[in-house]
Amino acid sequence: MLIFKKVADLQSWIAAERAAGRSIGFAPTMGALHDGHMELVRLSRRDGHSSVASIFVNPTQFNDPKDLEKYPRTPEKDIALLHDTGCDALFMPPVEEVYPAGEKVSIHLDFRQLDEVMEGVFRPGHFIGMATVVHRLLDIVHPQSLYMGQKDFQQLTIVRDMIRQLQMPIELVMCPTVREPDGLAMSSRNMRLSPDMRAVAPVIYQTLTWAGTEMRRRPASAIQTEAMERLRQAGLRPEYVDIVDGISLLPVEHWDDSDFIVACTAAFAGEVRLIDNSVFKEM
Ligand code: AMP
Repeated sequence: MLIFKKVADLQSWIAAERAAGRSIGFAPTMGALHDGHMELVRLSRRDGHSSVASIFVNPTQFNDPKDLEKYPRTPEKDIALLHDTGCDALFMPPVEEVYPAGEKVSIHLDFRQLDEVMEGVFRPGHFIGMATVVHRLLDIVHPQSLYMGQKDFQQLTIVRDMIRQLQMPIELVMCPTVREPDGLAMSSRNMRLSPDMRAVAPVIYQTLTWAGTEMRRRPASAIQTEAMERLRQAGLRPEYVDIVDGISLLPVEHWDDSDFIVACTAAFAGEVRLIDNSVFKEM
């Protein structure tokens, strides 16, 4: 696996790959990698691409500076994992390569309600920061296919909308959430859970699964209220459980109201904020 720190070096390698008739599959990450991230690389390789991953802890998408400071960084382990998974190239740029002084990298897009609901309520500015860095990385890599996890469902929905609005010639591939054996969605943040909270955290997935079985029988608002209560009873501090349409992210009240229904949640387990989701009905 090749490791690039400079945009120009990565781009000359990509140009050579293209000249040799190979396509590029791209998986952007913030590092502290685990098997969920590896799934993105595996799917990119399965689809026959030269696979490029990036590790960049993007300062502009953290609304809480403490969260940025505490974000785990495990570069040696990340490199070993990517190498063993067969990643072809890793881009690990310093901040000034991604945001060069004097160069305009900001984007002005109206995501309508997409960045205002759910995570948008609790992490103001987060999605504009995320969309800006993903746009900048796509502008550097120009992949044929972009691999993102279902785990961050709202993020993926907003990136889908950005690709559509800007008519970027990129296929977005949603990779299923990789979970621990007890159901907890793999996350870089899990390593910060106390043993007690690690034991409780699978209740998030259990609650989403329960909500999925209720959805055909009861209105979503009642399920959401009970799901919040189940999370609280388990010792978690939920911020929201929202059952929404998978494209517009607007609330769905009844099973027949939408062809694509997803339940999304965020809950604190001690000091660690976890998110997860479950697709109830897919197009
Ligand atoms: P992050 O490094 O957390 O920003 O995540 C980078 C990419 O990996 C995003 O597209 C995430 O949705 C994806 N990802 C993170 N955790 C998982 C997981 N457990 N399963 C599948 N994809 C994941």
